[in-house]
Amino acid sequence: MSSPRVDFSRFLDWFQIMRGILVLAMAPSTTSDSTSLRQGEPSFPDPGGQLRDVGLRATRPRIAVLRWLWDNPHSTAEAVAGAVRDELGSVSTQAIYDVLHACTAAGLLRRIEPAGHPARFETRIDDNHHHLVCRACGRAEDVDCVHGTAPCLAPSSTAGYVVDEAEVVFWGLCPDCRSAHTQDRSHHHEEGRS
Ligand SMILES: [Zn+2]
Ligand SMILES: [Zn+2]
Ligand SMILES: [Zn+2]
Repeated sequence: MSSPRVDFSRFLDWFQIMRGILVLAMAPSTTSDSTSLRQGEPSFPDPGGQLRDVGLRATRPRIAVLRWLWDNPHSTAEAVAGAVRDELGSVSTQAIYDVLHACTAAGLLRRIEPAGHPARFETRIDDNHHHLVCRACGRAEDVDCVHGTAPCLAPSSTAGYVVDEAEVVFWGLCPDCRSAHTQDRSHHHEEGRS
């Protein structure tokens, strides 16, 4: 007679534990964009080694830029410059642009250029993933490619071209801009009524 009760309380315990785990797992992903893939990894694995591997000197600004972008993917050059300046003191914006350019050219960074918004940079260069981009603020999030490898879409006709890439961008409004938009609309409604 008592066995269903025991099972139920066990289920409750299990539920509480799972809920705790879920809350822990969800919390960081609501504050920063698309770092869930990197969660659990403390910081950029050996940025100095990666720089030397591609023939670049492991300077402090280069290491700082790679570390910052590892933790803050899809940042603009301006955001990177601000963060690195906070960390290292006086580094010119031009020097940061040079670092971003050199690291992108060497294949350590990927540069995404959403039309009408400043370029953004990320360290996730090892797969063919796509981006969700907010039309209003330009914020970008990773979306895994369903197919996996480039080009993941085939044109209806190649016209004799050898196609090696399909540039896929999902445009929309991010949650922040959507709620700002809704608030703005309800505000206008109130003004209209009074
Ligand atoms: Zn937005
Ligand atoms: Zn990305
Ligand atoms: Zn794809």
